[in-house]
Amino acid sequence: MSDNERPEIGSGTRTKAIMETYGLTFKKSLGQNFLTDLNVLKKIVTAADVTADDDVIEIGPGIGALTEQLAKNAHQVLALEIDERLIPVLGETLADYANITVLHGDILQTQLSALIQEHFDGQHAVKIVANLPYYITTPIVLHLLDEEADFESITVMMQKEVAQRLTASPGNKDYGSLTIGVAYSTDSEIAFTVPKTVFVPSPKVDSAIVSMKKRRQEKYHPQNEVNFKRLVRGSFMHKRKSLWNNLLGLYGKDENIKNKLTSALNSSQIEPGIRAERLSVADFVKLSDSLEEQKLVPKSK
Ligand code: SAM
Repeated sequence: MSDNERPEIGSGTRTKAIMETYGLTFKKSLGQNFLTDLNVLKKIVTAADVTADDDVIEIGPGIGALTEQLAKNAHQVLALEIDERLIPVLGETLADYANITVLHGDILQTQLSALIQEHFDGQHAVKIVANLPYYITTPIVLHLLDEEADFESITVMMQKEVAQRLTASPGNKDYGSLTIGVAYSTDSEIAFTVPKTVFVPSPKVDSAIVSMKKRRQEKYHPQNEVNFKRLVRGSFMHKRKSLWNNLLGLYGKDENIKNKLTSALNSSQIEPGIRAERLSVADFVKLSDSLEEQKLVPKSK
């Protein structure tokens, strides 16, 4: 079959043929559920708003189904894959595209800013797009957000339940420290949901595409960002406990500390008996600043 007639990588028939040709098996331990629906793949590219003005980093290209669709729309695509077996396969499946670079590596061990500097020209917006390995979705999202790297957005597929946690509103049962971690620096939303049937092998759960757009101007400015993040994590440490009880665990239980905690809560106009899930990001910033004024330092764990 000539290249022109060959179905795209994300079609079920081509995926099957590639897996057979290279004698590949799916590695469950690496979260390998490959997308075999061209409509969904194209919808991801549209949701990520990838154009010829953009450079794209893809995490986990697999056999190249999403990479191919990204390359058709983007300026450059850099795809980082942990599974060594797939590197030569990608070299062949994506051989027609001059604007793709495939790297062997682990995203969690990769410094994003260095990657961007080394591989892109600095003249194009950088967008991160992926069908994430579900076993490490949260660490990957936190790793991407933790860095000062200069990228515009993250558009990624994940388990639907995790997507709901990432985008929840205060008071919702899914709202937690992960939600706040995402809302601190991005505007996020679920772009669309995807049934489990469009993957091989089919995962146990449905999925969703989450779009996170980094804000150009920082919206929140806690006095001490490290302590703010510890406050957020510590406040959700025991989700069923009140904020007050979590704060005692985080700052200590001495009378002196209790008095300072009470003052900080009063000046932030926050009821000690409520649960952390009722507090917005702005509430946490206010509380963190009041705690700074009381010179209270949260424990690191
Ligand atoms: N992009 C392909 C698709 O949509 O069909 C494959 C997606 S599959 C859900 C996740 C991919 O991430 C796999 O290819 C897996 O080997 C890769 N992966 C797993 N852990 C990784 C890590 N830490 N760093 C980079 N890639 C990883």
